[in-house]
Amino acid sequence: MGRSSKDKRDIYYRLAKEEGWRARSAFKLLQLDQEFNLFTGVNRAVDLCAAPGSWSQVLSREAGEEVKIVAVDLQAMAPLPGVTQIQGDITKVSTAEEIIRHFEGQPADLVVCDGAPDVTGLHDVDEYIQAQLLLAALNITTHVLKPGGTFVAKIFRGKDVTLLYSQLKVFFSGVTCAKPRSSRNSSIEAFVVCQNYSPPEGYIPNMSNPLLDHSYDVDFNQLEGPNRVIVPFLACGDLSAFDSDKTYPLQLDAGKEYQYTPPIQPPIRPPYQEACHLRKNNLLSKEDTPSVCPKQSRDKKKV
Ligand code: SAM
Repeated sequence: MGRSSKDKRDIYYRLAKEEGWRARSAFKLLQLDQEFNLFTGVNRAVDLCAAPGSWSQVLSREAGEEVKIVAVDLQAMAPLPGVTQIQGDITKVSTAEEIIRHFEGQPADLVVCDGAPDVTGLHDVDEYIQAQLLLAALNITTHVLKPGGTFVAKIFRGKDVTLLYSQLKVFFSGVTCAKPRSSRNSSIEAFVVCQNYSPPEGYIPNMSNPLLDHSYDVDFNQLEGPNRVIVPFLACGDLSAFDSDKTYPLQLDAGKEYQYTPPIQPPIRPPYQEACHLRKNNLLSKEDTPSVCPKQSRDKKKV
């Protein structure tokens, strides 16, 4: 896809650059906030899996200047005013400890997570890894969130989604699955908005991950009655908002040519950087190999 064709096709991608957001995902958090009023009364917020940083931008612009924000990502992120960054892994307890240190021992009011693993294109694998990341986010959240606090995270509505809802319901009295207008209908992505953090009595936060426990052999989608967890689904974002699956024409003043706007903050050292370098320098091609192996060629000569 050419540089400007993505602009023409994706209205939120274009708007993000025009409005100064580092990624189009900013609109997803803005639209979730419109529906759930996420930022009211928030003094400490954590942005898990934050790079390149558009959700941290939303937090710092919308939640007020006083709010302390900690952003965590495996990748380095360009600095953002008012945001403390931790380059770290959300599956590590040391990361939770570092977050708490930045808040001087105080718990967070809000934890958001837009985490996504590198997609493989194999749907079952991608869904599984996304579920693991969501559970990792939930685990670290149990270390840092105050009782009554809110957790928002990306979820793939795949076949094990009921299991995820069940696990979230253990910790939050309110769990809603929300789909902002800026999240494409064609994508199984949605967001869980988990309100009123209330862990079971005696629960001690830990980093164990129940989905890795293979003693589960229950089909959670077959559970019935009170054992089946059904969470409400909410399409959110003002209906007048742009439809992310639609293509909108560029709005140009008469006689003006389209000017391409570069991204606000491209990722620094993204994982694909090395592959791009190798490709550009033609280093990806294999060494010249004979079309037949030496033994075969010897045999051929014998014939
Ligand atoms: N919310 C971000 C924004 O608006 O700019 C975009 C997040 S991007 C879709 C997903 C991020 O998840 C990537 O930057 C990736 O490095 C991060 N990530 C994936 N696994 C992680 C982990 N275990 N710990 C920390 N970050 C992780």
